Amino acid sequence: MIPVQFDYLAPTTLEEAVAALSQHGDDAKILAGGQSLLPVLRMRLNAPEVLIDLGRIPSLRGVRDDGDAIVIGAMTEHSVVGSDPLVAEHAGLVAKAVEHLADAQIRHRGTFGGALAHADPAGDLGGPVLALGGEFVVTGSGGTRTVPASEFFTGLFETAIGDDEILTEVRIPKHTGWGAHHAKFVRIAHQWPIVAVAATVRVSGGVIEEAKIALANMGSTPLRASAVESALAGAAITAEAVGAAAEHAADGTSPPSDLNGDAEYRKHLARVLTRRAVLAAAGA
Ligand SMILES: Cc1cc2nc3c(=O)[nH]c(=O)nc-3n(C[C@H](O)[C@H](O)[C@H](O)COP(=O)(O)OP(=O)(O)OC[C@H]3O[C@@H](n4cnc5c(N)ncnc54)[C@H](O)[C@@H]3O)c2cc1C
Repeated sequence: MIPVQFDYLAPTTLEEAVAALSQHGDDAKILAGGQSLLPVLRMRLNAPEVLIDLGRIPSLRGVRDDGDAIVIGAMTEHSVVGSDPLVAEHAGLVAKAVEHLADAQIRHRGTFGGALAHADPAGDLGGPVLALGGEFVVTGSGGTRTVPASEFFTGLFETAIGDDEILTEVRIPKHTGWGAHHAKFVRIAHQWPIVAVAATVRVSGGVIEEAKIALANMGSTPLRASAVESALAGAAITAEAVGAAAEHAADGTSPPSDLNGDAEYRKHLARVLTRRAVLAAAGA
């Protein structure tokens, strides 16, 4: 199908984009890479009267060093994030997740901010940003505010971005020297995970001093595996110790059941993938 007719705006500054969004309100939709939005429009699941394309606003692109954090512009394509040396050095978990995200074509068009704003519970990026304690910077007619990752994902395909707001960048505290691994279980290559586990660990002398772990597709939003994190603090890097901690991976989760697997199968996957991800992140 072809989408319902819409007007197309291509502002060249953030201020113009915010003004257009305020003017058109519910009738408008932000267009980033279009990899999720355009299929939705073509299936006529949504029919905005106006599309506001952020693609010509240079300030929304790129990765920069900001002292204790790296900052990823919302319009930075996945392929750029995945090959950026700052991301690799200070937020290795993000780099690992991007490696597994869709195929090369989608990674070249889809954007970091677009994927996070879309908030698909099976998305590969929400978990890493949540685990790393990221912050989302949004700007609207009322000004700019920062939302911690723990408050950003509010439900299935829902975020804390207001109707008149644009996600401009994501700040990720540096985790320099931390080991990282993203374990993703798929039925078909280059697709969303049935379950994915993002794990990053700080190790010293054969011991895990601190672990940060998040799960994808184990509920309506990305989830932190807090019980595993607690169990891993001070644990030896052995299959036995990590396996025992990983048994808590599904604690408190309510995963969906669908044609790819039921809730119990997903809980099993969460435990297995957590063990694998933590061991790989720790270099075992
Ligand atoms: C075949 C296929 C396979 C895929 N596989 C995976 C996968 O394995 N893992 C994975 O994580 N993802 C996967 N994706 C999704 C991919 O990551 C998309 O790029 C992403 O979901 C959307 O990014 P986008 O830049 O294209 O956003 P768009 O499609 O342009 O926008 C998505 C939504 O976010 C809103 N939005 C976008 N940017 C902003 C902003 N800055 N501020 C406010 N709102 C905004 C839009 O209005 C829209 O509602 C796949 C997509 C396809 C088509």
